[in-house]
Amino acid sequence: MADADVPVVEFAGVSKTYPGRVTAVDGADLAIRHGELVCIVGPSGSGKSTMLHLMGTLDRPSAGRIAIDGYDVASLTDRELSALRAQRIGFVFQQFHLAVGVPVLDTVADGLLYTGVPLRERRRRATRALARVGLDHRLDHLPHQLSGGERQRAAVARAVIGEPALLLADEPTGNLDTASGAAVLALLRELHTTGTTVVVITHDREMAKVFDRRVEMRDGRIVADSGSRPRTIASGAGGRR
Ligand code: ADP
Repeated sequence: MADADVPVVEFAGVSKTYPGRVTAVDGADLAIRHGELVCIVGPSGSGKSTMLHLMGTLDRPSAGRIAIDGYDVASLTDRELSALRAQRIGFVFQQFHLAVGVPVLDTVADGLLYTGVPLRERRRRATRALARVGLDHRLDHLPHQLSGGERQRAAVARAVIGEPALLLADEPTGNLDTASGAAVLALLRELHTTGTTVVVITHDREMAKVFDRRVEMRDGRIVADSGSRPRTIASGAGGRR
């Protein structure tokens, strides 16, 4: 649907209550437009991961409406939701989630496994995605032969190989040293300048400062939103690696 006027993420009165009566997200209203670079920040337990799971259609809300790239999540079957997720959303997690014993090239190529793209083409695109994150010299390496920062860059390559409309990152620098974390953040910013909508969650208020837009959460509620501020980021800000 690549209509620039349709938000990539739209929440209207969204709540999520887990069994046991924990209301993890409480009446969230939020619109994220194409090309935004957004950080959701808040202390542990404030509902950030639940927000990310809802945005990623990994979970359905208990109340309210969610639309992703214009598609009303409630109107889709589980199968349609899986297709929406596979085609439009990329995920990066704190723990990298790279398959043990699988060369980086194939791990990234597997990001296209359910799209019907033949293996040769998957590998060609994986090579390109790895070049994009500065890992073209590591194609045959196994995950344990990579540094933490390199592993996370490989995970980013896997997440963006299908050119998703939305890239969701859950504490992407949480397991990295300062320098590697800064490099991964710079990479996410760079992807943003080329048009990907990026949403990062973090509990780290310092890290949150580098984002164009900060949505603050506390006790399941959005308590502050610095708002949409479309602007161009100077290319190469913060260095590439
Ligand atoms: P954050 O990512 O900010 O740490 P979460 O979204 O993980 O916050 O959690 C928000 C609240 O929801 C917490 O009180 C947490 O214990 C609860 N919660 C999260 N996931 C579940 C679940 N699957 N079942 C029950 N409670 C949950």
